[in-house]
Amino acid sequence: MAIYGKESICLLFGDIVFYCSAHMLGIETANRGLIMITKPKTVVIVGAGIVGLSAAFHLAEKGVERIVIVDKGKVGDGSSIRAGGIVTMLQDNESAIRARSRSLDIFERFSSILPGYTFHQVGCLNLMREQDFVNSTTLREIQTSLGARIEVLRGSEIQQKFPDIHTTDEDFGVLDLRGGYSEPHRYIPALLAKVRELGVEVRENQALVEFTMAGEVVTGVITRGRRSNEPETSTDVTKTIKADAVICTVNSWANHVLSGVGFNIPMKNFIHERFVTKRFPTQPILPAINDNVKDGYVRPTDDNRLLLGTSAHNPDEFVIPHPDFTFSDLQPDPRSLTHLKEHFTNRVPLLQRTEWDYHRVGLISFAMDSNPVIGPVPGLGNFYIGVNFHSGGFGYNPVAGLLLSEYVVNGKTSVDVDSFLPDRFACVDTESYQSMPLKHHDILQKRH
Ligand SMILES: Cc1cc2nc3c(=O)[nH]c(=O)nc-3n(C[C@H](O)[C@H](O)[C@H](O)COP(=O)(O)OP(=O)(O)OC[C@H]3O[C@@H](n4cnc5c(N)ncnc54)[C@H](O)[C@@H]3O)c2cc1C
Repeated sequence: MAIYGKESICLLFGDIVFYCSAHMLGIETANRGLIMITKPKTVVIVGAGIVGLSAAFHLAEKGVERIVIVDKGKVGDGSSIRAGGIVTMLQDNESAIRARSRSLDIFERFSSILPGYTFHQVGCLNLMREQDFVNSTTLREIQTSLGARIEVLRGSEIQQKFPDIHTTDEDFGVLDLRGGYSEPHRYIPALLAKVRELGVEVRENQALVEFTMAGEVVTGVITRGRRSNEPETSTDVTKTIKADAVICTVNSWANHVLSGVGFNIPMKNFIHERFVTKRFPTQPILPAINDNVKDGYVRPTDDNRLLLGTSAHNPDEFVIPHPDFTFSDLQPDPRSLTHLKEHFTNRVPLLQRTEWDYHRVGLISFAMDSNPVIGPVPGLGNFYIGVNFHSGGFGYNPVAGLLLSEYVVNGKTSVDVDSFLPDRFACVDTESYQSMPLKHHDILQKRH
């Protein structure tokens, strides 16, 4: 197997690794991490959220023989099970629009091949004020040219189409007709069942503690955790898994895990909360809504409820204190529901007479430029990451898994998403960025 990097070529014969200067060999190399050029036999994925599961699915479809996912907790129990599940392709840059368009294709496909899962393509309405609508004219042209199907609705037109939304003449709506939502508690088990059916090994309660390396090449992982399927009291076990490629999909935990290979991302985490009402007698008539006027979002659920979410009440960054941290350590913030009631009761009058049922709190993770970080890690062989999906990782997960599988198996992607590559922060002083306490509004705002 040959792997090439910025300045060196690495030849692997079994366990033996040879390094040569790329310059000496006269080979032009990518300045973007080390690229594998033969299909790997074993791939380990660290992190069993929706991005890790999606990567496993696509690798299995590409015929990778052995795929092992490890997670320090239960499948989906990071941000994934807490997500609102809203998806739109109306993003603010070309890479993101292209990527989301592919995600929508895959959601449509998953809806027919994953038993128990449905993609609710009810549309995603992006609400804004007139000035923002005018400012985004060129962006809408780009979105349309890249395959978006949109309908523009103003003031009362919105209410006529969706009677359970209240709008004024100041509201402008851009409806993404391909958008909609998924129920995470149906999607995750359905995707998990599918990857298991495809032969993927899923090891829960096994935390990555170390990467194994041969020079600049990642050769596997060491995990520690409880023996699978045994009670919590059972003895801890340490396991080494050798791999031809390792993919890291640990989202908010990225820097804790990546510090093990000396790579860090300029990134910030923020608390995000979402609430679900009790059932209404009939299905509320509204699409999924990204409400930029009210600073939150609302959507129907598949069992006649409303789901609402926001980060607006708590702008402070959240620093993950240690690698073993779990989201069950996060406490609900009383200000979040107050914010949603104040802002959304007028928007969705049904909320005046509702009771609230349950609540989820998690983290959303932003790279410095608010774009996801997907691709090979610069300077390291056989090592890939897919992290920092802001509040849009549900929308990204199908394509993120596809892209990761393409990097690993083909060395290149079928969607042009170069602006997501991890090497884009090469000139950033990451340590200074990490030590700077930032507020949510200091970072480029992105909703789903
Ligand atoms: C309340 C809320 C609402 C949201 N709503 C939406 C929405 O409507 N639409 C949308 O598109 N996105 C939404 N998001 C964002 C979305 O949920 C995330 O971007 C997405 O789930 C990220 O998936 P992931 O697989 O990358 O990360 P995660 O699901 O967080 O998975 C990471 C996994 O890594 C594991 N891990 C960490 N460290 C280790 C280790 N050392 N060893 C092994 N495993 C490890 C964790 O246990 C975890 O399971 C929302 C997020 C929140 C919190």
